[in-house]
Amino acid sequence: MVTASWESFIDEAAALVARARYVVALTGAGLSVESGIPPFRGPGGLWTKHGEPPMNGYQRFLADPQGAWRERLNPSGPMRELWETLQRAQPNPGHRALAALEECGVLRCLITQNVDDLHRAAGSRRLAEIHGNYTLIRCIECGQRYPGEAVSLDELPPRCAACGGILKSDTVSFGEPIPADVLQQCFEEAERCDCMIVAGTSATVYPAAQFPISVRERGGALIEINPYESELTPLCAVSIRAPAGEALPRLSARVAELRRAGHA
Ligand SMILES: [Zn+2]
Repeated sequence: MVTASWESFIDEAAALVARARYVVALTGAGLSVESGIPPFRGPGGLWTKHGEPPMNGYQRFLADPQGAWRERLNPSGPMRELWETLQRAQPNPGHRALAALEECGVLRCLITQNVDDLHRAAGSRRLAEIHGNYTLIRCIECGQRYPGEAVSLDELPPRCAACGGILKSDTVSFGEPIPADVLQQCFEEAERCDCMIVAGTSATVYPAAQFPISVRERGGALIEINPYESELTPLCAVSIRAPAGEALPRLSARVAELRRAGHA
């Protein structure tokens, strides 16, 4: 299937990254899959195997927060499978390469659709987790987030120490609006961004879909890292047809070389 080697595109992508003013990355399920987390949809997907969850998950939570918490604490079926996989998963070289790009000052922000905490575990700090983070608990009133282990579950549903509001998993449910603070952060980052690395996502789901498009519309460069072609491909300056776990470390290493040469 692979005709031209994707390696030949690394130099071009690295040059774009190295000369950009403000680089942002957007990641999705492809990166998690490489850490052994099954996708939701597609072959082997949790929902493909077990059926789609109800589309009104958030409304169900609001109608019965206590029942929703009991289910969360004693998951069954696909949720248990997902939960156990999340707890075992480790960051892969793609996660670590993005953390290294941030560490050296190149990557300014990482927008992810993944909830698995692997970017944080790899060392990324400037993160916008559009769909939340499964290790965190969030107040549905004031938006305050708490580490899961800091929240007492003696009484369900747990309440916010700041405002008394009901606490819910930070993971965004079906039917739940994307938390306003994260969405605002994403729009601001996309506004500043002149080079976006889109890795492991076809970015077809709102709101992620519109960030690369807005970067492109303002004249910024898009770099796609994805084994598969996507709707974004025609807009990209460079498309690297490879798994993120292979291509991102190469890209990060090449950017570091270019920067050393530039400073020499
Ligand atoms: Zn609160």
